[in-house]
Amino acid sequence: MRLPDPALVVLVGASGSGKSTWAGSRYRSAEIVSSDALREVVGSGEHDLDASTDAFALLEQVVAARLGRGLTTVVDTLGTDVSRRRGWLAAARAAGLPAVAVVLDTPAGVCRSRNSARDRPVPARVLTSQLAAVASAVDLLEGEGWHVVRVAPDDVPDDAPAAAG
Ligand code: ATP
Ligand code: MG
Repeated sequence: MRLPDPALVVLVGASGSGKSTWAGSRYRSAEIVSSDALREVVGSGEHDLDASTDAFALLEQVVAARLGRGLTTVVDTLGTDVSRRRGWLAAARAAGLPAVAVVLDTPAGVCRSRNSARDRPVPARVLTSQLAAVASAVDLLEGEGWHVVRVAPDDVPDDAPAAAG
């Protein structure tokens, strides 16, 4: 899959859907602006929800600065906040950059099993509401003006050995 570059790339997916993994395998770390990473910068760790307001303030500043310079910017958040998305899209347009929403179409059951295998799982009810928010966002993206790219789950199960070659 080839995406335009430079571009604004906004990830959309529940916890455990594979957003950070997808971004990390395709972009340089400086191109990725992550709310979790910024919570770790300004709070006690990536799960420090008390640091969210400060982390998102920084995120918005970094996104605006990078887009203002025409630099590729990958926004690694849940992607479900309509008003934040609107602002990022407007900034990309002002900079003349294409705006791509990358939806991680990972099945709910896979997100849940990956989540429960993590050190600090998101509570099940939180994951349920994230999955619903992602489904709602997916219905809105095209109409908002995003170029939508859907990342299909891998054909192989999570625990399958890596293919040779
Ligand atoms: P969060 O919103 O909590 O940050 P995320 O969407 O960024 O979640 P990742 O951290 O990228 O999700 O992935 C969650 C787990 O799933 C990790 O353990 C990762 O190794 C695994 N994973 C991600 N993508 C794949 C994939 N394509 N195949 C198999 N495992 C994957
Ligand atoms: Mg992540």
